[in-house]
Amino acid sequence: MPSLASRFDLVVVCTGRGPFAEVFGRDPAHPASTRPGRALCAGLFTGVAQQPVPQVTFHVSPGAGEMIEFPTWTDGGLVMALVIENHRGSALEALATTPYEEDPGAFRDLALELLREHYPDCFERIDPVEFGPLDGPRGILQGAVTPVVRRTHTVLDDGTVVLALGDAHVTVDPLLGQGANIASHAAWVLAEEIVRQDVLDRRFVEHVDMRRQDRVLSAFRTTNLFMENLEALPADFVEFLGELGRSPSLADEFTEWFNYPERFWDDLADPRRTAAWIARHAPASG
Ligand SMILES: Cc1cc2nc3c(=O)[nH]c(=O)nc-3n(C[C@H](O)[C@H](O)[C@H](O)COP(=O)(O)OP(=O)(O)OC[C@H]3O[C@@H](n4cnc5c(N)ncnc54)[C@H](O)[C@@H]3O)c2cc1C
Repeated sequence: MPSLASRFDLVVVCTGRGPFAEVFGRDPAHPASTRPGRALCAGLFTGVAQQPVPQVTFHVSPGAGEMIEFPTWTDGGLVMALVIENHRGSALEALATTPYEEDPGAFRDLALELLREHYPDCFERIDPVEFGPLDGPRGILQGAVTPVVRRTHTVLDDGTVVLALGDAHVTVDPLLGQGANIASHAAWVLAEEIVRQDVLDRRFVEHVDMRRQDRVLSAFRTTNLFMENLEALPADFVEFLGELGRSPSLADEFTEWFNYPERFWDDLADPRRTAAWIARHAPASG
């Protein structure tokens, strides 16, 4: 790190893995579980027919997991991306812990069986002969993500600021698809502040942090809230999901929030906020 600092006015770390990210340490102001919330299996899959209207679908298998399904253009044409989020200890966890590479045929049989049982709406669109990860082992990820907020920066002995960006700063589970969204927002803010300011010191960092933290932290908090609530399914959360199904305007606004995660948190940070949000969308009586 010091050898980089001697050559540049600012060092930005934007790789969330390995020794670089460890420079920052967890930020105790934003605690989170120190272990992953889900066992993940994600990939681009062939043999899954598109729905009549292209759409992102969020499937829930109560007590076992969630699956996000979205059509994706690739060099090989239009395929389906499946992000399969599995509760620890559920039967679905095997999708993350059975290495695809060791026996692709056995993995495919396992996946088909579990999709049939837990996500029948998706399974009925699958051609078992064609089903499998695009590009074989390169098309599938099995593992887990530990959520973390790290300290935003450190300052080296010579005064050079080392700033954490993207996953190196805040890592979220992919449940709500927010990691790249908040990483690119933060990168944009950082670029603007580099252009705007003459000196890249602690004050510079304060400006960057003030502008990025609401969106970044809101995505972190909302993702963690959804993970906990989808696992425990408390009554008020089930009611909230039901309201989304009943009110098109509520559902539209909820969908729009994926672009602005701070709006998620504005209306979900407290059950009273959620109730007020639902009430705003209630049809006018009389
Ligand atoms: C299964 C899954 C699904 C996801 N789905 C979504 C989604 O739908 N929407 C969304 O917004 N986010 C999603 N994410 C999260 C998203 O992928 C990450 O949050 C995002 O890629 C973080 O960007 P980054 O630039 O911080 O890090 P990365 O994308 O990890 O980029 C870091 C780069 O640094 C390079 N690198 C590593 N070490 C070095 C080194 N020593 N020197 C130079 N370069 C180095 C790496 O090769 C890499 O290219 C998903 C994540 C997973 C695991």
